[in-house]
This record gives sequence, C-alpha cells and structure tokens, in this order.
Amino acid sequence: MSNITVCARFRPLSSKEKTNFGNSVCIRGIDSETFIFKDEKEEEFKFCFDRVFYENSEQVDVYEFLALPIIRDAVNAINGTIITYGQTGAGKTYSMEGPDILESDEHQKGLLQRAVNGLFECIKSSEESVKYTLKFSMVEIYMEKVRDLLDLSKDNIQIKESRVQGILLSGVTEISISDPAEAMQSLSSGIANRAVGETQMNMASSRSHCIYIFTVQQELNRVKRVKEGKFVLVDLAGSEKVEKTGAEGKVLEEAKTINKSLSALGNVINALTCSPGKANHIPYRDSKLTRILQDALGGNSRTALLCCCSPSSSNAPESLSTLRFGTRAK
Ligand code: ADP
Ligand code: MG
Repeated sequence: MSNITVCARFRPLSSKEKTNFGNSVCIRGIDSETFIFKDEKEEEFKFCFDRVFYENSEQVDVYEFLALPIIRDAVNAINGTIITYGQTGAGKTYSMEGPDILESDEHQKGLLQRAVNGLFECIKSSEESVKYTLKFSMVEIYMEKVRDLLDLSKDNIQIKESRVQGILLSGVTEISISDPAEAMQSLSSGIANRAVGETQMNMASSRSHCIYIFTVQQELNRVKRVKEGKFVLVDLAGSEKVEKTGAEGKVLEEAKTINKSLSALGNVINALTCSPGKANHIPYRDSKLTRILQDALGGNSRTALLCCCSPSSSNAPESLSTLRFGTRAK
C-alpha cells in the first residue's frame, strides 16, 4: 500500500474553448474512479484514479477527499503534501485558492482557505494537555532559486538538512498564526508579494512553483517534548510543453528548468511507489522542489496528487500527458 493518493480533476469548459473549439470534450465518465479519455485521433484510453472530480465537482469534495486526512495527520505530527499538477489554465490555482484567496463565496473557497479552518478545528478538538503552535511560511521556486514570499528581500533561500528538524529553509520567514483570520492575512500578503515579484522579474506565475508550508508544533506539557507535523501545499508551474520552434532565450530556459524539476518530482514519486518501505535510492537531490519536499514526501508522510485537466478536445494532448504523469505515480 502506498501513501500516495492520485486524483484527476476536470474543470468546466471555458467560454474561450467553447467559442473557438465548440463543446467537444475528451472525457466520458464511467464512475467516481474511472473514465474514458479520447485523444485527438479519437483513440480511447481508460483511466483509473483514487477519485475523479468531474466538471461539476465541488471544491468541498476535493477538500474532504484530498486534504482532510492529511490535515488530521499533520495535527498528529505526521507530515503530508498536496500537489496540483497540470498545464497552465487547467485549474491548479483554482483548486488551491479558489477564484481569489479572499473569495467570500463559501462554495468557491479553495483548499487553502478550507485547510486553514480545518487545521484550527483539528487543533481545537485535540487533547487539552497539548499546547499547539501553528506556523506558516510561503516560498516560490523560479529558475531553481527559492524566494521567500513573506519577505521578498530574501531572494535566495538555501535548503539545509538537520538530523532533528529535517529539511530546513535557512532564514525563511515563519509567521506564528493564532486564528484563521490571521492565517488568511499572511496567505494573502504572500500571494500579493508573488504578483509583485512577477512584475519585477517579468515572469508569469505559471512559470514558478509556489509552496505553502504549515507547521503544527505540539508541546506535551508533562514531558517537555516537542513534536512537529508539516502540511505542505504545492501549486506547480504549468506542465505544458513549449513549442520547440517558437521558444527561445528566457522562455526556453524557463521551460527546460520547469521540465527538469517536474521530471525530478515524477522520478521521486515513482521511486517511492515502486518499492514502498524499501531503502532504495530516492533522488530528492535532483531539484530544489523535491529537496524541499523531501521530508513531506515518502516515509510515513501522506501525499495527494491532483492532476488538473481541461476537458476540451482541443487540449487533449496536454491532458493526456498530465493523466499519464498521474498514472505513473500510482
Ligand atoms: P492554473 O492555475 O492551472 O493555470 P487556474 O486555476 O488559474 O489554472 O484556472 C484557469 C481558469 O479556469 C480560471 O479562470 C479559473 O477560475 C477557472 N477554473 C479552473 N477550475 C475551475 C473549476 N473547477 N470550476 C470553475 N472554474 C474553474
Ligand atoms: Mg495557476
């Protein structure tokens, strides 16, 4: 049994897809785990995941299936990670943040807003003899450089490993949060900073990986021992292939770097699922992304991968590639 849950999510057709390509869709659902995918040559493939979220799926369903078990674990000092994967425009950020991190419509709130509430609820309902501290950090990886999104002056954070604390982001800003409102404030300032950085560097958010890290610390009063669980959410850079002919210079360099880190992620997940529990070599060091996720991916930790896809036939090649990434992670 592996600790990796792999799901697929299809967003509704966009109005642009409808206008330009009509209502033709590349999937036919069979049940909540299985669907038929039709590529651009009308060839059919059957896919099976732990759960499929179709066009009309609710944000709350995604949260309850993917995030809630990991949040419960984090409060019990077990690390966990949720990763959204897919081409740009496929619904990764919508799944994480909803249409906007400050969205007021309950219905549309994403994993982050729900996770913040969920973490505090889990802490509240836990044993009273334990003192909990919740901390939050947020970083972005662009061109293999790690930037602190809570303090843009820290634009080259180093990754270190300590035997006691595991993977550390050296000098990263960690904000203690004591209620959901405070957490939302830190989150939205991190997201706003991300946009500022993008403008400064002339980069699109889809070209960088965004990592949200919640650390739940437990102090057991009687025994003076501290335990820690990490809950990490990763909104990956777009997985689309760049046109070999059109891309050059910076765009090509970005694409190569993204490709390398996404393959590194795939390789780590494969190594973990191929022989779970065995002490085989896991190539965490092949990218900053996998290095940061090292102690929240594999081992006892729980991982959920959400493969986000457009349902439009016009995007079939990219969706197929996303779904294959998901299948390889099983
Ligand atoms: P990505 O982060 O993968 O590049 P986005 O999450 O920004 O993609 O989604 C692209 C667009 O589609 C956005 O306008 C978003 O609001 C919309 N969208 C994505 N997923 C859904 C969904 N499940 N339901 C409704 N709209 C969605
Ligand atoms: Mg996005």
